[in-house]
Amino acid sequence: MGLHDLDFLKVKVDQLKADGVYRVLPIVESANEPEIVINGKTVLNLASNNYLGFANHPRLKAAAIKAVEQYGIGAGAVKTISGNQSLHDELEKALAVFKREEAAIVFQSGFNCNAGVIQAITDVGDLILSDELNHASIIDGVKLSKADKAVYKHSDMADLRRILTEKRSSYTNVLIITDGVFSMDGDLAKLPEIAELAEEFQCLTYVDDAHGSGVLGENGRGTVDHFHLHGRVDFTIGTLSKALGAMGGYVAGRQIMKEWLSHRARPLLFSTNLPPAVVGALLEALKLMSESDEANRKLWDNGNHFKAQMAKAGFDIGHSETPITPVMLGDEALTVAFSKALLEKGIFVSPIVFPTVPKGKARLRVMVSAAHTTAQLDHAVEVFREVAAQLRK
Ligand SMILES: *Cc1c(COP(=O)(O)O)cnc(C)c1O
Repeated sequence: MGLHDLDFLKVKVDQLKADGVYRVLPIVESANEPEIVINGKTVLNLASNNYLGFANHPRLKAAAIKAVEQYGIGAGAVKTISGNQSLHDELEKALAVFKREEAAIVFQSGFNCNAGVIQAITDVGDLILSDELNHASIIDGVKLSKADKAVYKHSDMADLRRILTEKRSSYTNVLIITDGVFSMDGDLAKLPEIAELAEEFQCLTYVDDAHGSGVLGENGRGTVDHFHLHGRVDFTIGTLSKALGAMGGYVAGRQIMKEWLSHRARPLLFSTNLPPAVVGALLEALKLMSESDEANRKLWDNGNHFKAQMAKAGFDIGHSETPITPVMLGDEALTVAFSKALLEKGIFVSPIVFPTVPKGKARLRVMVSAAHTTAQLDHAVEVFREVAAQLRK
């Protein structure tokens, strides 16, 4: 027993076990589909961000293979050296058109995008105002900035105004950052009000639309489009890893933003660019989304159906305004036990516990997609009922 046995970590892991929140990571032995194989068993997958069913889509796969044949397996370098292939350039142009913005610049992931952009666009003498429920990658991105920081209560516009009134005059730039869709509850940011406050107090706005991309707005153009706020949000972040089915993140906005970020966004300078297969697939995903909103409409129909059935079955499903369906259980150990019982009955739903959500607000987060059938969703509701009855005993 010495330092290198890492006993200091064993103490922490033992505590997780004592708290009933220790998990063995599931190993998925199949592609991401409505049904997946875990430990040799086929289960209903209600735990993925593959909103539109693109993760295993034949057209995206064919595009990926074609990109590999033409451009190879790896980009070979960071974007700012020799890793910026014509395919990457094409993707950025297509994203700018789709998002109805001047320009877009692509990162290796949504997480990397927040880690790179926030610190590059803020400086000493600036202030960042962040919603208390913002995503971890925003929190980490904000930590990397030299600006001062303040957190406002979740979607509380009176609190945001209070901080702005108190502090605005002491700073050069003030950047208001919010998720477009809050990923653990499924509620929308009050973007029209935020845009008005930003104009009143002369602030910049930054919306991370990871769960809004492909979900809200015309053909899935996102939350900014949903609220018709083009031109009033300075930085729109999106992910290419959720609805678009592959991997990557981007920020859309002004051309000058793109020029600055290609000099100072550290993930673009110090981490290799996305592989061609991914970029080829993403171009096809954008093409699909532009051609038709069929998958988007199916996603909403499925989400609305599932939420209605769960509410009817007596579950507390919170206040989601999107297909994200939290099933609020509160207790952490109960949440983990509930998900285990669901899995035994062939339903895979992920338990969300601390530190992803505050202690006492544990929940199961059900993620429906466009690819689920009504029969699959109804079956899931039935199993939820059975498990609830079983655990109540
Ligand atoms: C998922 C998520 C991210 C991270 O996106 P990845 O592309 O998976 O890295 C960033 N922000 C928010 C709000 C998210 O929900």
